[in-house]
Amino acid sequence: MINKVVAANWKMNKTAAEAQIWASGLIESLDEIPSDVQVIVAAPAIYLRELGQKFRDQPRVKIAAQNCHHEQKGAYTGEISPSMLRSVGVDYCIIGHSERRSMFLETNELISLKVKACLEVNLTPIVCVGETLAERESGYHYGVITEQITAALTFANPEKPIIIAYEPVWAIGTGISATNEQAAEMHALILGLLAQYNFTNTPVLYGGSCNDGNAAALFSMPGISGGLVGTAALNIRSFVRITQSFS
Ligand code: PEP
Repeated sequence: MINKVVAANWKMNKTAAEAQIWASGLIESLDEIPSDVQVIVAAPAIYLRELGQKFRDQPRVKIAAQNCHHEQKGAYTGEISPSMLRSVGVDYCIIGHSERRSMFLETNELISLKVKACLEVNLTPIVCVGETLAERESGYHYGVITEQITAALTFANPEKPIIIAYEPVWAIGTGISATNEQAAEMHALILGLLAQYNFTNTPVLYGGSCNDGNAAALFSMPGISGGLVGTAALNIRSFVRITQSFS
């Protein structure tokens, strides 16, 4: 089981040249990254194949897509399927990021189908869950996370790896991270839910304004196996420092 993970989510950032510079910077920095840390790079789909080739000889670096379709093939213009991702060497796929839930209207039901499709072809889903500020302020954050996790596991199976990322929506891209205690409380809830479904070795990452200044404190909290990092991962030096933040 992997229990120290740092995943970079580039979102819709970087030109091809910038992607290459970042990837070369990561290769040059691998000696600085603790050997027990799994690094995952979630890049725009157009760069995945090339990145996969670049990191072919680096088992500590895995490539992730940021989304996929819930079918393996068919008349879905513009979409990319889990089996296509596998065919170009992609190992992970972010599913249900809050930006996709809010901007692309992805529902818990659709996310459960995407998880199913990923697992069919051994593409490990990194399922994002998280509450909005309104949901937290109304005290419904526990309910939201419970619904999201329950849906995500509908077609999952403890035999096949899956990663969960707890990403409070109000913390994503805002510069305001959850406190260590808020994060630990929600991770404990998620781990409890996972255990109910016999998922006992599932890493739960924290995401939401995680950076090289707060990662060490967050990663030292019980139940936090690492981070899914957006803004602070765009700069390779700050990303490398985050990978060094485990105690
Ligand atoms: C994300 O989008 O997954 C994320 C965590 O972004 P940021 O680190 O910028 O909050």
